[in-house]
Amino acid sequence: MPTHFCVSRQTAEDFMRLFVNRLAYCIQREKTPSDGSAPYIKQKRPLDLGAVRMHLNGDATISLYAINPNTQRCKWVAIDADFDGAVDALFQLRHELKQDGIEAAPEQSRRGGHLWIFAEEPLLASLCRIYIYNAALRLGVPVKGGGLKEGIEVFPRQDQIADGAYGNAIRAPLGVHRKSNRRYWFYDADVTPEAQLAYLQGLKKLTATQLETLTQGMKLPEAYRPPEPVPFVPRTPILGQREFRILDYVQTTGKQDSRNWKAQCPSCGEAGRDRSRNNLGIKISDPRFYVCRAGCTKEEIRAALGQPIRKAAMA
Ligand SMILES: [Zn+2]
Repeated sequence: MPTHFCVSRQTAEDFMRLFVNRLAYCIQREKTPSDGSAPYIKQKRPLDLGAVRMHLNGDATISLYAINPNTQRCKWVAIDADFDGAVDALFQLRHELKQDGIEAAPEQSRRGGHLWIFAEEPLLASLCRIYIYNAALRLGVPVKGGGLKEGIEVFPRQDQIADGAYGNAIRAPLGVHRKSNRRYWFYDADVTPEAQLAYLQGLKKLTATQLETLTQGMKLPEAYRPPEPVPFVPRTPILGQREFRILDYVQTTGKQDSRNWKAQCPSCGEAGRDRSRNNLGIKISDPRFYVCRAGCTKEEIRAALGQPIRKAAMA
Protein backbone atom coordinates (compact mmCIF):
# COMPACT_ATOMS: atom_id res chain seq x y z
CA MET A 1 0.00 0.00 0.00
CA PRO A 2 1.28 3.50 -0.75
CA THR A 3 1.89 5.82 2.17
CA HIS A 4 -1.06 8.00 3.04
CA PHE A 5 -0.34 11.69 3.59
CA CYS A 6 -2.28 14.51 5.12
CA VAL A 7 -1.06 17.66 3.37
CA SER A 8 -1.85 21.21 4.39
CA ARG A 9 -3.80 23.74 2.42
CA GLN A 10 -0.51 25.55 1.82
CA THR A 11 1.00 22.46 0.17
CA ALA A 12 -2.06 22.16 -2.09
CA GLU A 13 -1.68 25.83 -3.01
CA ASP A 14 2.00 25.29 -3.87
CA PHE A 15 0.97 22.41 -6.11
CA MET A 16 -1.71 24.53 -7.80
CA ARG A 17 0.75 27.32 -8.51
CA LEU A 18 3.22 24.98 -10.19
CA PHE A 19 0.93 22.66 -12.08
CA VAL A 20 -2.52 24.10 -12.65
CA ASN A 21 -2.98 26.26 -15.72
CA ARG A 22 -6.70 25.70 -16.17
CA LEU A 23 -9.30 24.19 -13.90
CA ALA A 24 -10.53 21.39 -16.17
CA TYR A 25 -9.27 18.02 -14.95
CA CYS A 26 -9.93 14.29 -14.78
CA ILE A 27 -10.05 11.76 -11.95
CA GLN A 28 -8.56 8.33 -12.45
CA ARG A 29 -10.93 5.50 -11.71
CA GLU A 30 -9.94 2.65 -9.41
CA LYS A 31 -8.51 -0.27 -11.36
CA THR A 32 -11.14 -2.52 -12.96
CA PRO A 33 -10.30 -6.05 -11.76
CA SER A 34 -11.48 -7.66 -15.02
CA ASP A 35 -9.18 -5.90 -17.49
CA GLY A 36 -6.81 -3.95 -15.25
CA SER A 37 -7.70 -0.62 -16.84
CA ALA A 38 -7.92 2.59 -14.80
CA PRO A 39 -9.36 5.24 -17.12
CA TYR A 40 -9.44 8.95 -16.42
CA ILE A 41 -12.89 10.53 -16.21
CA LYS A 42 -13.35 14.18 -17.06
CA GLN A 43 -14.90 16.16 -14.21
CA LYS A 44 -17.74 18.61 -14.59
CA ARG A 45 -16.73 20.75 -11.66
CA PRO A 46 -13.60 22.89 -11.76
CA LEU A 47 -10.51 21.75 -9.89
CA ASP A 48 -10.23 23.11 -6.34
CA LEU A 49 -7.87 22.83 -3.38
CA GLY A 50 -9.94 20.00 -1.91
CA ALA A 51 -9.40 17.82 -4.99
CA VAL A 52 -5.69 18.68 -5.03
CA ARG A 53 -5.35 17.68 -1.38
CA MET A 54 -7.08 14.37 -2.07
CA HIS A 55 -4.64 13.80 -4.92
CA LEU A 56 -1.59 14.52 -2.77
CA ASN A 57 -2.92 12.52 0.17
CA GLY A 58 -3.53 9.52 -2.06
CA ASP A 59 -7.33 9.40 -1.85
CA ALA A 60 -7.92 10.24 -5.51
CA THR A 61 -5.71 10.69 -8.55
CA ILE A 62 -6.09 13.56 -10.97
CA SER A 63 -4.77 14.37 -14.43
CA LEU A 64 -4.20 17.88 -15.76
CA TYR A 65 -4.39 19.55 -19.16
CA ALA A 66 -1.37 21.42 -20.47
CA ILE A 67 -2.88 24.20 -22.59
CA ASN A 68 -5.23 26.95 -21.54
CA PRO A 69 -7.33 27.68 -24.67
CA ASN A 70 -7.75 31.35 -23.71
CA THR A 71 -4.04 31.98 -23.99
CA GLN A 72 -2.72 28.92 -25.90
CA ARG A 73 -0.07 28.85 -23.19
CA CYS A 74 1.14 26.29 -20.68
CA LYS A 75 2.77 26.46 -17.26
CA TRP A 76 4.89 23.40 -17.80
CA VAL A 77 6.18 21.03 -20.42
CA ALA A 78 6.23 17.33 -19.63
CA ILE A 79 8.15 14.87 -21.75
CA ASP A 80 6.79 11.34 -21.49
CA ALA A 81 9.03 8.41 -22.40
CA ASP A 82 8.13 4.74 -22.03
CA PHE A 83 10.20 2.96 -24.66
CA ASP A 84 13.38 0.87 -24.28
CA GLY A 85 16.10 3.20 -23.07
CA ALA A 86 13.54 5.85 -22.13
CA VAL A 87 15.16 6.85 -18.86
CA ASP A 88 18.58 7.26 -20.49
CA ALA A 89 17.03 9.41 -23.20
CA LEU A 90 15.36 11.63 -20.58
CA PHE A 91 18.60 12.16 -18.67
CA GLN A 92 20.38 12.93 -21.94
CA LEU A 93 17.68 15.50 -22.69
CA ARG A 94 18.01 16.97 -19.24
CA HIS A 95 21.73 17.43 -19.82
CA GLU A 96 21.13 19.06 -23.19
CA LEU A 97 18.54 21.43 -21.70
CA LYS A 98 20.99 22.37 -18.97
CA GLN A 99 23.41 23.60 -21.67
CA ASP A 100 20.64 26.02 -22.68
CA GLY A 101 20.23 27.15 -19.08
CA ILE A 102 17.03 25.18 -18.45
CA GLU A 103 16.58 23.10 -15.30
CA ALA A 104 14.36 20.07 -15.82
CA ALA A 105 13.11 17.59 -13.23
CA PRO A 106 13.02 13.86 -14.00
CA GLU A 107 10.13 11.90 -12.51
CA GLN A 108 9.68 8.16 -12.38
CA SER A 109 6.70 6.64 -14.15
CA ARG A 110 5.09 3.24 -14.42
CA ARG A 111 6.83 2.31 -17.66
CA GLY A 112 9.69 4.78 -17.98
CA GLY A 113 9.86 8.38 -16.89
CA HIS A 114 8.78 11.96 -17.37
CA LEU A 115 10.88 15.09 -17.58
CA TRP A 116 9.24 18.30 -16.38
CA ILE A 117 10.13 21.90 -17.18
CA PHE A 118 8.39 24.71 -15.33
CA ALA A 119 7.65 28.18 -16.62
CA GLU A 120 8.17 31.49 -14.89
CA GLU A 121 5.03 32.75 -16.64
CA PRO A 122 2.76 30.76 -18.98
CA LEU A 123 4.55 30.08 -22.30
CA LEU A 124 3.17 29.65 -25.80
CA ALA A 125 2.56 25.92 -26.32
CA SER A 126 3.74 26.11 -29.92
CA LEU A 127 7.14 27.56 -28.91
CA CYS A 128 7.61 24.97 -26.15
CA ARG A 129 7.03 22.24 -28.69
CA ILE A 130 9.40 23.75 -31.24
CA TYR A 131 12.11 23.92 -28.62
CA ILE A 132 11.78 20.35 -27.32
CA TYR A 133 11.35 18.75 -30.76
CA ASN A 134 14.52 20.45 -31.99
CA ALA A 135 16.49 19.58 -28.86
CA ALA A 136 15.47 15.92 -29.23
CA LEU A 137 16.37 15.97 -32.90
CA ARG A 138 19.84 17.38 -32.12
CA LEU A 139 20.44 14.54 -29.68
CA GLY A 140 18.98 11.80 -31.84
CA VAL A 141 16.30 11.11 -29.22
CA PRO A 142 13.29 9.68 -31.09
CA VAL A 143 10.03 11.63 -30.98
CA LYS A 144 6.80 9.69 -31.47
CA GLY A 145 4.82 10.57 -34.59
CA GLY A 146 6.15 11.78 -37.92
CA GLY A 147 6.58 8.14 -38.94
CA LEU A 148 8.02 6.88 -35.62
CA LYS A 149 5.96 4.54 -33.44
CA GLU A 150 8.27 4.78 -30.44
CA GLY A 151 9.75 7.86 -28.92
CA ILE A 152 9.17 10.66 -26.47
CA GLU A 153 5.82 12.43 -26.34
CA VAL A 154 5.66 16.11 -25.55
CA PHE A 155 2.87 17.63 -23.43
CA PRO A 156 1.44 20.04 -24.65
CA ARG A 157 0.63 17.63 -27.46
CA GLN A 158 -0.89 20.42 -29.62
CA ASP A 159 0.45 23.77 -30.85
CA GLN A 160 -2.90 25.24 -30.04
CA ILE A 161 -6.39 24.06 -29.21
CA ALA A 162 -9.80 25.32 -30.19
CA ASP A 163 -12.03 27.22 -27.82
CA GLY A 164 -13.80 24.66 -25.65
CA ALA A 165 -11.25 21.95 -26.48
CA TYR A 166 -8.98 20.23 -23.96
CA GLY A 167 -6.04 18.68 -25.75
CA ASN A 168 -4.34 15.89 -23.81
CA ALA A 169 -4.13 15.44 -20.06
CA ILE A 170 -1.25 13.88 -18.15
CA ARG A 171 -1.38 12.24 -14.72
CA ALA A 172 -0.51 14.88 -12.17
CA PRO A 173 2.74 14.13 -10.30
CA LEU A 174 3.04 13.10 -6.65
CA GLY A 175 -0.21 11.12 -6.53
CA VAL A 176 -0.91 7.39 -6.52
CA HIS A 177 -1.16 5.67 -9.88
CA ARG A 178 -4.33 3.59 -9.70
CA LYS A 179 -2.99 0.94 -12.06
CA SER A 180 0.03 0.00 -9.98
CA ASN A 181 -1.25 1.48 -6.71
CA ARG A 182 2.05 3.27 -6.09
CA ARG A 183 3.53 6.73 -6.30
CA TYR A 184 6.22 7.77 -8.74
CA TRP A 185 8.47 10.46 -7.31
CA PHE A 186 10.86 12.98 -8.74
CA TYR A 187 14.36 11.58 -8.53
CA ASP A 188 16.11 14.41 -6.76
CA ALA A 189 14.14 14.97 -3.55
CA ASP A 190 12.88 13.16 -0.48
CA VAL A 191 9.68 11.24 -0.97
CA THR A 192 7.03 13.38 0.70
CA PRO A 193 4.75 15.82 -1.15
CA GLU A 194 6.27 18.73 0.82
CA ALA A 195 9.89 17.86 0.06
CA GLN A 196 9.12 17.19 -3.60
CA LEU A 197 7.29 20.49 -4.01
CA ALA A 198 10.07 22.39 -2.25
CA TYR A 199 12.55 20.86 -4.71
CA LEU A 200 10.38 21.79 -7.71
CA GLN A 201 9.87 25.33 -6.44
CA GLY A 202 13.63 25.70 -6.13
CA LEU A 203 14.25 24.90 -9.80
CA LYS A 204 15.07 27.73 -12.16
CA LYS A 205 11.96 28.54 -14.22
CA LEU A 206 11.97 29.04 -17.97
CA THR A 207 11.04 32.58 -19.01
CA ALA A 208 9.24 33.70 -22.18
CA THR A 209 12.24 35.78 -23.28
CA GLN A 210 14.59 32.84 -22.81
CA LEU A 211 12.31 30.55 -24.81
CA GLU A 212 11.96 33.11 -27.61
CA THR A 213 15.74 33.46 -27.84
CA LEU A 214 16.23 29.70 -27.83
CA THR A 215 13.71 29.09 -30.61
CA GLN A 216 14.64 32.01 -32.85
CA GLY A 217 14.44 30.91 -36.49
CA MET A 218 13.36 27.39 -35.49
CA LYS A 219 10.35 25.49 -36.71
CA LEU A 220 8.83 22.18 -35.80
CA PRO A 221 10.81 19.54 -37.75
CA GLU A 222 9.04 18.98 -41.04
CA ALA A 223 7.85 15.43 -40.36
CA TYR A 224 5.89 16.68 -37.34
CA ARG A 225 4.26 19.72 -38.85
CA PRO A 226 0.55 19.46 -39.44
CA PRO A 227 -0.19 19.43 -43.18
CA GLU A 228 -0.95 22.84 -44.61
CA PRO A 229 -4.53 23.01 -45.77
CA VAL A 230 -4.83 23.33 -49.51
CA PRO A 231 -7.61 25.70 -50.46
CA PHE A 232 -10.15 24.26 -52.83
CA VAL A 233 -10.57 26.32 -55.94
CA PRO A 234 -13.20 24.82 -58.20
CA ARG A 235 -12.19 25.17 -61.78
CA THR A 236 -14.59 26.27 -64.45
CA PRO A 237 -14.96 23.44 -66.93
CA ILE A 238 -13.91 24.42 -70.40
CA LEU A 239 -16.67 23.91 -72.90
CA GLY A 240 -16.09 20.96 -75.09
CA GLN A 241 -13.31 19.63 -72.92
CA ARG A 242 -13.79 15.97 -72.29
CA GLU A 243 -10.89 15.04 -70.14
CA PHE A 244 -11.84 14.21 -66.58
CA ARG A 245 -9.76 15.95 -63.94
CA ILE A 246 -10.01 14.54 -60.45
CA LEU A 247 -8.78 17.79 -58.88
CA ASP A 248 -11.91 19.50 -60.18
CA TYR A 249 -13.95 17.23 -57.95
CA VAL A 250 -12.07 16.49 -54.74
CA GLN A 251 -10.52 18.72 -52.18
CA THR A 252 -6.98 17.80 -51.26
CA THR A 253 -6.19 17.71 -47.55
CA GLY A 254 -2.41 17.87 -47.76
CA LYS A 255 0.41 15.78 -49.12
CA GLN A 256 0.67 12.03 -48.73
CA ASP A 257 4.38 12.22 -49.55
CA SER A 258 6.57 14.29 -51.84
CA ARG A 259 4.84 12.95 -54.97
CA ASN A 260 1.16 12.71 -54.08
CA TRP A 261 -1.68 14.82 -52.83
CA LYS A 262 -4.06 13.17 -50.45
CA ALA A 263 -7.82 13.57 -50.31
CA GLN A 264 -10.89 11.74 -49.16
CA CYS A 265 -11.69 8.94 -51.54
CA PRO A 266 -15.15 9.81 -52.98
CA SER A 267 -16.20 6.19 -53.08
CA CYS A 268 -15.07 5.53 -49.50
CA GLY A 269 -16.69 8.81 -48.48
CA GLU A 270 -19.99 7.77 -50.00
CA ALA A 271 -19.91 4.69 -47.77
CA GLY A 272 -19.18 6.84 -44.71
CA ARG A 273 -15.54 5.73 -44.56
CA ASP A 274 -12.20 7.56 -44.85
CA ARG A 275 -13.06 10.14 -42.22
CA SER A 276 -9.39 11.07 -41.97
CA ARG A 277 -9.62 12.10 -45.62
CA ASN A 278 -6.42 10.55 -46.82
CA ASN A 279 -7.27 7.35 -48.68
CA LEU A 280 -6.99 8.86 -52.11
CA GLY A 281 -3.51 9.55 -53.43
CA ILE A 282 -3.25 11.84 -56.46
CA LYS A 283 0.00 12.17 -58.35
CA ILE A 284 1.08 15.81 -58.18
CA SER A 285 2.98 15.80 -61.45
CA ASP A 286 0.12 14.13 -63.32
CA PRO A 287 -3.26 14.12 -61.59
CA ARG A 288 -4.65 11.69 -64.15
CA PHE A 289 -3.15 9.08 -61.85
CA TYR A 290 -4.96 8.54 -58.61
CA VAL A 291 -5.50 5.52 -56.41
CA CYS A 292 -7.52 4.65 -53.31
CA ARG A 293 -5.46 2.82 -50.74
CA ALA A 294 -8.57 1.07 -49.45
CA GLY A 295 -8.87 -0.55 -52.87
CA CYS A 296 -11.75 1.27 -54.56
CA THR A 297 -11.55 0.96 -58.31
CA LYS A 298 -11.31 3.89 -60.68
CA GLU A 299 -14.81 3.03 -61.89
CA GLU A 300 -16.18 3.24 -58.35
CA ILE A 301 -14.44 6.54 -57.68
CA ARG A 302 -15.74 8.08 -60.90
CA ALA A 303 -19.24 6.76 -60.28
CA ALA A 304 -19.23 8.24 -56.78
CA LEU A 305 -18.43 11.62 -58.33
CA GLY A 306 -21.31 11.33 -60.78
CA GLN A 307 -18.73 11.18 -63.57
CA PRO A 308 -18.86 7.53 -64.65
CA ILE A 309 -16.19 6.34 -67.03
CA ARG A 310 -17.64 6.19 -70.47
CA LYS A 311 -17.62 2.87 -72.20
CA ALA A 312 -15.41 2.52 -75.27
CA ALA A 313 -15.37 5.79 -77.14
CA MET A 314 -17.28 5.93 -80.35
CA ALA A 315 -14.33 6.71 -82.49
ZN1 LIG B 1 -11.88 4.34 -51.60
